[in-house]
Amino acid sequence: MPGFEKFSDLERKEVNDVLETGVLMRYGFDGMRNNIFKAKDLENEIQNRFKVKHAQLVSSGTAAVSVAMALSGVGVGDEVIMPTFTFVASFEAILMLGATPVLVDIDNTLTLCPKAVEKAITPKTKAIMPVHMCGSMANLDALKSICKTHNLKLIEDACQAIGGTYNGKALGTIGDAGCFSFDYVKTVTCGEGGTVITNNDDYAVKADLYQDHGHDHVGNDRGAETHPYLGYNFRISELNAAIGLAQFKRLDEFLDLQEKHYTILRQELNSINAIEFRTVPNGGVESYAFLNFFLPTLEIARKVSADFKSEGIDVCFHYYDNSWHYVRKWEHLKEAKSLYPLPESVKQGLSNISKQDFSQSDHFIGRNISCLIKIGWTEEEVKLRALKMTEIINRHI
Ligand SMILES: *Cc1c(COP(=O)(O)O)cnc(C)c1O
Repeated sequence: MPGFEKFSDLERKEVNDVLETGVLMRYGFDGMRNNIFKAKDLENEIQNRFKVKHAQLVSSGTAAVSVAMALSGVGVGDEVIMPTFTFVASFEAILMLGATPVLVDIDNTLTLCPKAVEKAITPKTKAIMPVHMCGSMANLDALKSICKTHNLKLIEDACQAIGGTYNGKALGTIGDAGCFSFDYVKTVTCGEGGTVITNNDDYAVKADLYQDHGHDHVGNDRGAETHPYLGYNFRISELNAAIGLAQFKRLDEFLDLQEKHYTILRQELNSINAIEFRTVPNGGVESYAFLNFFLPTLEIARKVSADFKSEGIDVCFHYYDNSWHYVRKWEHLKEAKSLYPLPESVKQGLSNISKQDFSQSDHFIGRNISCLIKIGWTEEEVKLRALKMTEIINRHI
């Protein structure tokens, strides 16, 4: 996955363009910038590649999710449905707006279970946020139809699945808004950065102003601009955008490597009858950023994971015991350990999490091993890794 593995002269050239003018900000300074607009160029590339009307770059993937929530009008008193298995950014972005994250079970797709989503809907629910974890998606047709029935927004967190598709459409373009992260370890990196994408013109205008202190960006005197709404600073810098521009132009090269390495590993592991690969919904094509499979039991998964670690098979995760990605270890969330007072509605919602039964999620995450696919591996390295992984798994089943 990490695009940084392939840094080259292309990234250096784009960054140098910016350094030569010294204009590190995406807005203003027109006299100095020699017509260099890296953030704008990257937004255009994203729109063209994903056939989406609008891309709004921001400072991180977490910021992208917060902005998408704001565009959907999510705020205090509203509930947003999100999965138990995700990066912590999901609930952080919801809490930012004073809204309440509602945690819901995943299924064998490793993403939101539509049946569990339906059960969690209340009159306060405003949006559903599937997170396309580890390169693949939820049953988005089912989630879309739930949103339609209940008049809810669908916000896709596609941060780990850039390049994946569903019914021929890019992940991130299926809901009301989609989010990508370009942080240091993602398939495309800006160092730090992210984007919101949408086909909704009204969202696009609001995203543009919200991420820059409410500025309307009309005219060429920044000081004289009006502020139709309150905003914030979630801007990306030209330096970050420049790196992302070089990387994004190489997306297909990176995706081809992900698919190639994934396929070698999968073909070898396929010889083991006792493992089952994650389910990809009909119409879905993974981004191949990770290879995910289920072992027969939690105990076996723990043993395999320990041997992977001690025998040099790095970047494979057993998320059940990992503090970052699964509800089990989110004590700071469950105990609402905030630096500042939270709305009563949020405190109430968070206090419910410990009482919820997530045995369905445990059933999948407990047995899951998730292997990051590096694009920097050589073919030889992937083949050796595949054999070693197969040997270790066979030892324990
Ligand atoms: C990386 C990631 C984010 C957050 O992105 P940052 O750019 O690190 O803030 C959000 N959601 C998921 C699923 C991610 O993997």
